[in-house]
Amino acid sequence: MKNRFKAVQIRKDGDKQTVEDVELTPSDLMAGDVTVQVSHSTVNYKDGLVLTGRSPVVRKFPMIAGIDLAGTVEESSNPEFKPGDKVILNGFGLSETHYGGYAELARVRGEWLVPLPKEFTPAEAMAIGTAGYTAMLSVLALEDAHVTPAKGAIVVTGAAGGVGSVAVSLLAKLGYRVIASTGRTAESGYLKDLGAAEIIPRAELAGEPRMLGKERWAGGIDSVGSKTLANVLASTSYGGAVAACGLAGGLDLPTSVAPFILRGISLLGIDSVQMPRPRRVQAWNRLARDLDVKALAAMTRTIPLSGVRQAAEDILAGKVRGRLVVEI
Ligand code: NDP
Repeated sequence: MKNRFKAVQIRKDGDKQTVEDVELTPSDLMAGDVTVQVSHSTVNYKDGLVLTGRSPVVRKFPMIAGIDLAGTVEESSNPEFKPGDKVILNGFGLSETHYGGYAELARVRGEWLVPLPKEFTPAEAMAIGTAGYTAMLSVLALEDAHVTPAKGAIVVTGAAGGVGSVAVSLLAKLGYRVIASTGRTAESGYLKDLGAAEIIPRAELAGEPRMLGKERWAGGIDSVGSKTLANVLASTSYGGAVAACGLAGGLDLPTSVAPFILRGISLLGIDSVQMPRPRRVQAWNRLARDLDVKALAAMTRTIPLSGVRQAAEDILAGKVRGRLVVEI
């Protein structure tokens, strides 16, 4: 094991938060029963919040940033893992209360780890990352709510972002008609290549929500929240369901009970961070089956660890298309 390793650390001095490149030793790592040599991470929206300090995500300082990691087990006292095993970790308090993935080494609890599916390289697993795994959790929730392709179209909001791009691709491959809502209509070609049948401008869903509108889709995957989610609900057809997983447009939800009590619509809450392991493994197995790796490559750009600060600004400004992989 390396006796020194590089990491991106968040520090707090009074009210001021700083991001520093540091060199640490393995003894600096937090407690855990598996030590992982990290090869790849990614930049999700939440990583943007952490690195810019725009939301109080980090709950212990100093903290190594990065909510996702992929790599190879170096040491393990957990019977489920042995040196050489390829693993992934999404969430579970990484970069909030436990040192995260922007580091060459991570020590974590084995129960947080998922074995890397053989269909993916570590880089591909991070191209998926929390964003893609959340898109899969959202698809699973729609399936559990019996929203099948035969029931009608699915609207995906924030479609050109990370969750959105993976959701569009997955839904299209599963046979759904996908309506992609985006603020970047210049990315229509990109979204159509991922499988979107129709593109609608973000503004169409951003106005003052009506209680109920014309029934336009059987379901939705929403990474935007606020008025957008309210408008998605108002246009969901009878008995449909909407998976709510994000807040890129705001934390509020200015809606009424009308979609729920007059149209029997279900609002499906999606949390990836504390999701129990069996569902994570199910989601990763479904990603291995249902995500087209060519589409994944088309939505992914690779950056070095030194690029995460700029990427954090870009993702919060809605300027990142698809997914970013960080080479550690
Ligand atoms: P991205 O920034 O990659 O995607 C968000 C997309 O939302 C943007 O690309 C943009 O899409 C759209 N958008 C951005 N700002 C606004 C705005 N003000 N109004 C309307 N639309 C906007 O982020 P991620 O895909 O990584 O994450 C998306 C959301 O999902 C975030 O809020 C994140 O916190 C949340 N999330 C939640 C998880 C959970 O466990 N529940 C897990 C993962 C993510 P376009 O340009 O196409 O309009």
